[in-house]
Amino acid sequence: MVSPLASVIDPSRLTSIVQDLVRIPSVNPPGSERGVADYLLNLLKEWGFQTRRIDVPFRDRPQVLAVLPGSNKRPPLILNGHMDVVPEGDPEEWTDPPYAGTIRDGCIYGRGSCDMKGGIGVALEVARALQLSGMPLEGDLVLAFAVGEETGEPGTKTLLEESGYTDGFGIVLEPTGFKLGVAEKGLAWLRITLKGKPAHCSIAEQGINPIDQFLTLGKAIKAYDEKIRKRVHPLCGPAKCTMTILRSGTKENVVPESLTVTLDRRMNPDEPVETVREEIDQILTGLASMDPAFSARLEVTRLYEPAEISPDLPQVGILAREIEAVTGKEAEIWGTPYSTDVRNFINDAGIPAVTFGPGQIAQAHAFNEFVAIEDLVRGARIILGTAERLLL
Ligand SMILES: [Zn+2]
Repeated sequence: MVSPLASVIDPSRLTSIVQDLVRIPSVNPPGSERGVADYLLNLLKEWGFQTRRIDVPFRDRPQVLAVLPGSNKRPPLILNGHMDVVPEGDPEEWTDPPYAGTIRDGCIYGRGSCDMKGGIGVALEVARALQLSGMPLEGDLVLAFAVGEETGEPGTKTLLEESGYTDGFGIVLEPTGFKLGVAEKGLAWLRITLKGKPAHCSIAEQGINPIDQFLTLGKAIKAYDEKIRKRVHPLCGPAKCTMTILRSGTKENVVPESLTVTLDRRMNPDEPVETVREEIDQILTGLASMDPAFSARLEVTRLYEPAEISPDLPQVGILAREIEAVTGKEAEIWGTPYSTDVRNFINDAGIPAVTFGPGQIAQAHAFNEFVAIEDLVRGARIILGTAERLLL
């Protein structure tokens, strides 16, 4: 049954807030979320929420915490969204200006409409509706709006530390098309540098050619990729290791002095993070033992750990029932193939959390990005129903 409170959701308020948010560009890089943070802080203050402007980890990029307080009989529900958006790219590719927030055919268009100012709008609308209902809460409803998600910066991680909460339940309102993400893959970027010895190509044998060495290394990595693809997670699918950047050489007639190859490694929640580096290290050590001239350096240049919670948690069940009540379809328990700040809840703060929100992931980062207003309203009804069952 859809929550009776759902009628408190105001589609026109929700729509105009999301339009407002889209109209304040908050592109990252370089990290210009400040305008959105100011807007949110002003609005929440006007509504009478307890608000905090968080000036860490970046002094000039404020983050937002707001609380609708409960009586502390039950743990909090934390709604999270990132304020930053990816750059709009070539404006010529957009039918409407990317920051106009145009409404057409029941959809709001613009950079960030789907990823994820729509989700932030839903969090605000749920908070406002609960507040206006006047119902006393037994647990806090917390809004946590972060910087730097698109570039993997520690926005949400810091926000959760600053909030002081150590329990409860989190919902990261990324667009999932209403699929319920309880697990997500991790990501590591690794860079291998092979050291060569330059020589004039007329006497090439006097040098050490890292491209020759790569012929063996590349095959070994390909074999490694095939091996780890057999590690299949029930929700996230196979682990993967893909070679993505290859660089070497300075001139046509010179044996190169070095070669670098970059790997994109997608890891499953059941793979220990340390194995990512260790397994590549083993490949390199093996090759060095066969060729004394083989000299490799390995660096991990980015690491987002995987994360997962049990789909059997009661909060997941409650959310799933609300999804079903509002959409009329059984909730799809899902492993998100991309990384979100949910790992900061689960791995860093120890708070169980899911990735769930309105909008299609295909729209995120795309030209002519849009979100359907009907999906925003349905999203708000689902989250409000969940909040009611967790906090009232
Ligand atoms: Zn996002």
